[in-house]
Amino acid sequence: MPNDNYYTNARHRAWREAVLRRAGYLCEECRRYGRTGPDGLPVRATTAHHIKHRDEYPELQYLVANGRALCEACHNKMHPEKGTRKQGRRY
Ligand SMILES: [Zn+2]
Ligand SMILES: [Zn+2]
Repeated sequence: MPNDNYYTNARHRAWREAVLRRAGYLCEECRRYGRTGPDGLPVRATTAHHIKHRDEYPELQYLVANGRALCEACHNKMHPEKGTRKQGRRY
């Protein structure tokens, strides 16, 4: 476990869940561009992204309106600063 305590994790999980549910568990970026997955179905969202980064706007980090449901590929594009590393799904 990293530094996060249980409370923070639980809150983050609830926020992530709400963001994904609001988007119907589909990637909002892919849907916007009409992209589908290899199976021809809409791309599933696996990650909740903060539109306004929580480092700059800590007060917005649990606001569902500040979340965006994204697939892994789209989420990586939102974080060019992180390169292709497979982490950062909390941001
Ligand atoms: Zn996507
Ligand atoms: Zn993000």
